[in-house]
Amino acid sequence: MTELQLRKQIIATALAMNSPGINRGTSGNVSARWKSGCLITPSGLRYEDTRPSDIVFVDSRGNARGKRPPSSEWRFHHDIYRSRTDTCAVVHTHSSFATSLACLGKDVPAFHYMVAVTGGDSIRCAPYATFGTQQLSTNALKALNNRKACLLANHGMITTGKTLDDALALTVEVEALCEQYWRALQVGKPAILSAKEMRTVLKKFASYGQSSTITARRKSKTKSR
Ligand code: 13P
Ligand code: ZN
Repeated sequence: MTELQLRKQIIATALAMNSPGINRGTSGNVSARWKSGCLITPSGLRYEDTRPSDIVFVDSRGNARGKRPPSSEWRFHHDIYRSRTDTCAVVHTHSSFATSLACLGKDVPAFHYMVAVTGGDSIRCAPYATFGTQQLSTNALKALNNRKACLLANHGMITTGKTLDDALALTVEVEALCEQYWRALQVGKPAILSAKEMRTVLKKFASYGQSSTITARRKSKTKSR
């Protein structure tokens, strides 16, 4: 992929993130790993008005290069890429249900087996810190330990992925899970799955989906030849 293609994909992801129910206005931000740093949305610029040349490069030392200031949250994007070599995309949103739960400052427990898509048996909520601060980045990184997503208290959520599509899909999934948990809380006390069951689910997720089935079929074909 060329740098221009990636810049365009970042804008497309930011526009998709603002589709109904996920994010609004200039809240949130999107980045993708590029060379030794990352490309990130500029601060406070409407995604509809953002052009590829507005996307800012932040290098491995945190120096921004571009015609606009980078997202105020460049610190946690930058720190995530530096601490996790498998992450190539980060999406941050203020989606309604995730943010509502984040305002309670509590982790989302294993009320549904799909919580495991975030990499563990809960979606952690990072303690509150002012937006754009190093403290927020520190709190977020801790909450993301062994996880692909976390909530940010009184703020929103962060998702990560190998690609922008992965991170965006996870945003949609986490928002749906938060809505389901919120709805379940309205009528009672949701039953929480055990740590043992969630370990089973996590193991099954490792071989879930088309690519693993194709690989398994290919292996069995090779064997039968
Ligand atoms: P930026 O417009 O600076 O990316 O800020 C939006 C945001 O969500 C801050 O947390
Ligand atoms: Zn934010």
